[in-house]
Amino acid sequence: MSEPIIDRFADIKILRYEVSEFEQLPLQQKLFLYCLSEAALWGRDIIWEQNCAENLLVRDLLETVYASQCSANALDSRLLGYLKRVWFANGVHHHYSNDKFRPSFAETELRQWISDVPDDLFTSRLHDTKQNVADRVSAVIFDPDFKPKKVCLDKNQDLLKASAVNFYSGVCQSEVESFYKNGKGRNALNSNAVRKADGSIGEKVWRLGGMYGATIEKIVFWLERAKKHACNEQQKEVVGALIKYYKSGDLTDFDEYNKLWVAEKAAPVDFINGFIEVYSDPLGLKATWESIVELVDNEASERIRLISENAQWFEDHSPVDVRYRKRNVRGVSMKVINAVMLGGDCYPATPIGVNLPNADWIREKYGSKSVSLNNITHACSVAARDSGALAEFAASKAEIECSRQFADQADDLHTQLHECLGHGSGQMADGVTLDDLKAYGSTIEEARADLFALYFMADDKMIEIGAATSKDVAWAHYDSYMRNGLLVQMSRIELGKNLEEAHMRNRQLICRWVLQRAQPKHVAAIVERAGKHYVEIYDYEALRSLFGELLHEVQRIKSEGDYEAAKNLVENYGVCLDQTLHTEVVERYKRLDVAPFSGFVNPRLAPVERDGQIVDITIDYSESYVDQMLRYSRDYSFRNSL
Ligand code: ZN
Repeated sequence: MSEPIIDRFADIKILRYEVSEFEQLPLQQKLFLYCLSEAALWGRDIIWEQNCAENLLVRDLLETVYASQCSANALDSRLLGYLKRVWFANGVHHHYSNDKFRPSFAETELRQWISDVPDDLFTSRLHDTKQNVADRVSAVIFDPDFKPKKVCLDKNQDLLKASAVNFYSGVCQSEVESFYKNGKGRNALNSNAVRKADGSIGEKVWRLGGMYGATIEKIVFWLERAKKHACNEQQKEVVGALIKYYKSGDLTDFDEYNKLWVAEKAAPVDFINGFIEVYSDPLGLKATWESIVELVDNEASERIRLISENAQWFEDHSPVDVRYRKRNVRGVSMKVINAVMLGGDCYPATPIGVNLPNADWIREKYGSKSVSLNNITHACSVAARDSGALAEFAASKAEIECSRQFADQADDLHTQLHECLGHGSGQMADGVTLDDLKAYGSTIEEARADLFALYFMADDKMIEIGAATSKDVAWAHYDSYMRNGLLVQMSRIELGKNLEEAHMRNRQLICRWVLQRAQPKHVAAIVERAGKHYVEIYDYEALRSLFGELLHEVQRIKSEGDYEAAKNLVENYGVCLDQTLHTEVVERYKRLDVAPFSGFVNPRLAPVERDGQIVDITIDYSESYVDQMLRYSRDYSFRNSL
């Protein structure tokens, strides 16, 4: 598998990842991975429905038209192009920009294609008339003013009404905020907040027998089977606790599960499975469903132990106010893993590092687990190696050379510091929670973790403990971080739009804030040469001090729940794009002809049975993107198996 790119469309490239050690694993681990993988794949429909209420209908319709056109040998490439994008985004909104994308065919054409579908095929899949289905999807596919954004963070609007995500119905932002502030809602994380018949607000809880109950039943089924193959007794309890939570929907059960999960550190297989991240809720309350099945990479994990062993040292030397340092850093553990299966919100676009659990009080009391996804990162860097973006945007030959030499090491180190120490660091003031920062919470939290990584990457301690080979690793990273935050990442945004996504906002916020202070002191600057702009850094140590200064302020904002300061910082530095620069970057990037976003197909795991017993699990990488998506829709959708 030397060529990791297997498909390419719109602004997306699809890669494969490899689990090289899978075949050598003992059967028990293979079985455990297999059952966890099935549980991961079964949750797929939940994320589709969470992203937008109409998504599953759109998918069913498009796949039906696709099937019909294929069998008539009349596939329209514009249909397939749109369907590939919808698959990738788990819905009709771009996975990163959150904007609804538009098909390159017209509504009249879609209606014609629908009428060409054989009636029995159509009814068996859509359970409705052609006319009705065409009418029901019309607005969500074609009307640019209908649910234009998946997540809207525009503070001048009612965030719930302006966002397409499907967490609230018939309720407005202010009443939901007071509903949860007054402690009336018990399931902020795992429910839809809805208007009840008597006019008050209620919750439809996501659990067995509740909302998403049919899908959760499948997840629970596979978790029950997985439990039998867990790697140790403690892990059996972990899986059991997750099942209990899926059954009850009670968040105290979820806390119990998290405590057990964070404490289990010995097993060679681990997993994430559940309603976890709140980035897709404009209020930061409701969690999207996701899963990652993980196989620990022992060799690489050993290198990281060097960093986590020194967690307390980093905390004690953090440039934040001494009141907001954690006195006892506990349980910081980081592992390098190889992904075996990606599901829900982690598929096909996937994070490269994850730190959980998210509940601050559990992290403070019981610690957290961090993973970095080695085979994913590796596939990305192989694909990016010759994209030409570095040569186009780097300010000098020396910078390119430095990046070639150190970027891989630097990226790994950044991810490790960000996930392993960054998110877990710091202390809240009494009575303050991250929710106090409302819509700005995610951006501030990501900025805090990034700044922690940026600041400590250049510390002598890194070399002392053997985590970095030289300071050049940090300086190469400063080059690429500033280049990305001030220039390159804009290539991902359509002209005329602002930044919405928390990680993008946090990167620009950090870079603009330090640049504003660096430029007058000749520490760093944006310069123009022959009509092109570049970022030049003149004094790396001074730049590091600026990262430290901002970390101090960002930690204060989080610890004190200073909403006004968070708002000012994000709105002033992290939201608006410089129009002239934006246009230039988009032009330059377009000429490189590289897809700015990547996602993955999963390997296919299959049981080998003999006399009714599973005797082996095989792994196969040959499936195409289209085939995988169609198979998932066919085999892992409760509605289709009816
Ligand atoms: Zn993060």
